[in-house]
Amino acid sequence: MYRQQTPPPAIPTHRMVQEAPVDAGDFADWLDHTLQGLHSGTMAPVPCGDCRGCCASGYFIPLTPSDSAAAMAIPAPLLSPAPGMPPGYQVLGRTAQGACPMLEHNHCSIYPARPQACRAYDCRVFAAAGMAAGPDSFSRINARVRAWRFSYGSSHARAAHQAVQAAARFMEEKASAFPGGRVPRRPDELALLALKVHAVFLRADLPTLTGTAIAEAVIASSRDFDARGPDAHPRQ
Ligand code: SF4
Repeated sequence: MYRQQTPPPAIPTHRMVQEAPVDAGDFADWLDHTLQGLHSGTMAPVPCGDCRGCCASGYFIPLTPSDSAAAMAIPAPLLSPAPGMPPGYQVLGRTAQGACPMLEHNHCSIYPARPQACRAYDCRVFAAAGMAAGPDSFSRINARVRAWRFSYGSSHARAAHQAVQAAARFMEEKASAFPGGRVPRRPDELALLALKVHAVFLRADLPTLTGTAIAEAVIASSRDFDARGPDAHPRQ
């Protein structure tokens, strides 16, 4: 489950593309929907506006067998078999500039048939975790990450956000507390894991725990999350 760590990028403060603040919604509602969606595959709609940062940042887009509409809409030469996956799993390549080849004039040319990976992508996970989506090639996403502003309907919601950020920070800074020093390598994986295990960082006894004990609690919390169903995420 954990991979060898390379530190996720901090939110860069140079070469910044500036965006005006964008309403990310109520944090508690967003967290509930996102945790539910990790089980059900139904993610909350993202108010992207004109931003197409995730389409232009060098991601290879995976297609599964259930992405048949996308597979038919995308020219075959742009698709490759996904390495190490069974037949039917494919990868959509990118242009020399690192953009998705289906992005035309800043619009997805296959939007109604776009792959599930595109539908599920929500860069608010990085704002929630207090980290950047990636290095300089992710500048457009990172600009939006900096622009998101969550709102808080209660002190619990604000505490939950602080706990998510503490979880991400702990995994970045204390990888050696985990067996083999292994924590998620990719920023998106680390941010999503921070959402899953944030309750550990709300524990009243947290200041009394060693780093190793916190890491064990993180691993147990992650396993518990993965074992639960989509209706098992009571609001903190
Ligand atoms: S398929 Fe469409 S939504 Fe997905 S990355 Fe390409 S342009 Fe963006």
